[in-house]
Amino acid sequence: MQQTPARGDVTIGILALQGAFAEHQVMLQKLSLRKRIVIVLVRTQEDLARCDALIIPGGESTTIALLARLAGLLGPLRDFVKTKPVWGTCAGAILLAQAIEGAKKGGQELLNGISINVARNGWGSQVESFEAPLEVEGLRDSNRPFQGVFIRAPVVLSLCLTADDPPIQVISRISAGLLPSNQTLVPMDEDDTDPRDPRTIVALRQGLHLLTTFHPELTKDDRFHEYFVKECVLPTLASSI
Ligand code: GLN
Repeated sequence: MQQTPARGDVTIGILALQGAFAEHQVMLQKLSLRKRIVIVLVRTQEDLARCDALIIPGGESTTIALLARLAGLLGPLRDFVKTKPVWGTCAGAILLAQAIEGAKKGGQELLNGISINVARNGWGSQVESFEAPLEVEGLRDSNRPFQGVFIRAPVVLSLCLTADDPPIQVISRISAGLLPSNQTLVPMDEDDTDPRDPRTIVALRQGLHLLTTFHPELTKDDRFHEYFVKECVLPTLASSI
């Protein structure tokens, strides 16, 4: 049942066409913040229009994009991304990207919210999924690692910033030694693996948006959900009052 927002509430949508939207809902429901969070499972333009911010879950980016097109949501989502905070997790991160490699035949529609080029399934297939403890800048209790769950995760291949784009703030990188044993980071140039290699980026912010190539909603740790609401969403509401 959809909740009705009252003045001062924050309304967060979760794109609920396919994938791990229910898990994001559970995480948001558990947060205890000063503001009440109203959650909208977004399936129509009308749902989206009610939201102050949006989460795009993991799942299958091609399917999510196809269902969004069928629901008449692609245009409204592209408009939403221009003005409101969006967090993409895994498949959601792919949709938020500007460009991808490894799209299925027929291509992949993107929302072009973050100036990066990503590779779908960049660390391999389902059987090569893995977990790794991550250091994340700015999370509550940030000395405690966040367990990153990587399931056919995208890999950031490059940043494609133009002079007009807001800067990208990398908030977490995976250390190459924590990748599965069959995933050695082949250096992109003759030097040894560069610690600033874009492929080590697993969480970043640009402008209003947040992107994680892994699945915080599949853990019991609510710190990323708290981070999105506190750092990305609430500041935009304060400035619009
Ligand atoms: N590889 C999937 C895709 O391309 C994403 C996987 C995920 O969200 N766990 O959409």
